[in-house]
Amino acid sequence: MSPRWIDETLHAEGGLTTSYRADKILYEENTGQQQLVIFDNPTFGRMMTLDGATQVATRDEFIYHEMMTHVPVLAHGAVKSLLIIGGGDGGILREALRHKSIETITMVEIDAGVVEFSKLHLPMVSAGAFDDPRVELVIADGTKFVAETDKRFDVIIVDSTDPVGPGGVLFEEGFYRDAKRCLTPGGVIVTQNGVPFLQPDELASTIRKFRKLFGDASCYLATIPTYVGGPMAMGWGSDNVALRQTTALVLAERLTSAGFSTRYYTPQVHAAAFALPQYVQDCFPR
Ligand code: SAM
Repeated sequence: MSPRWIDETLHAEGGLTTSYRADKILYEENTGQQQLVIFDNPTFGRMMTLDGATQVATRDEFIYHEMMTHVPVLAHGAVKSLLIIGGGDGGILREALRHKSIETITMVEIDAGVVEFSKLHLPMVSAGAFDDPRVELVIADGTKFVAETDKRFDVIIVDSTDPVGPGGVLFEEGFYRDAKRCLTPGGVIVTQNGVPFLQPDELASTIRKFRKLFGDASCYLATIPTYVGGPMAMGWGSDNVALRQTTALVLAERLTSAGFSTRYYTPQVHAAAFALPQYVQDCFPR
């Protein structure tokens, strides 16, 4: 029997799809929120797609999860409370828990099915993170949570799907405004903001909204092979303009005292990630 191929259709309107051979399908169902597929691919390991968009691959997830987590946490330098919006596979949660200085992590995920099936079929991604006593898992729409909570967070990480399906609301100004309300003074929000070579408008839209809300609005880059089309942008918003300028020397001291090793993140890579090629800078509204 010929093997099954799973198509990534995120960029299909632009005439681009990516296909991954599925040597084994572990789960393929509509969770009631999203179409969830988990399968094994010989090159990228175990993969998950949601509504046709690649979410996580065990071979390269460390790049995304380390850069989405350690850049804001080490730039801030004194994180006690952290909020994750989305992140159902548990990779961001795993990386955040490595910082023993963080006292509480709240994770707000809209789809219990993603958490359940990630724990079952992708345990290497969360690596037990959901069981950590510092974690509060809330199954809810992230927009509702930030609009209503009286909690405050030093770092907010929006590990969302792309602006299709339930993820669309996480790219709206009202969500960003409410998220800012939940930041402690000088806190920082980072956002999964797509691949600017293919999704320039998504980045431009977030930067435009962040400029209205924050003293410092920018992004940083990391290249994750299964997020096709070149480097991915991670949106950055903070009223503490010094955070983004934290030097590699200071970051190195903080990483050493955090006491764990990484596979992609280094203080030098962190500092360099904010050096943006001209075509990415050109995405920024004038
Ligand atoms: N790293 C992936 C990426 O870059 O596309 C994202 C991974 S994570 C699986 C994305 C999560 O966002 C999913 O679990 C999805 O259910 C969740 N999500 C989507 N819309 C949401 C919303 N409005 N509130 C909370 N979580 C949401």
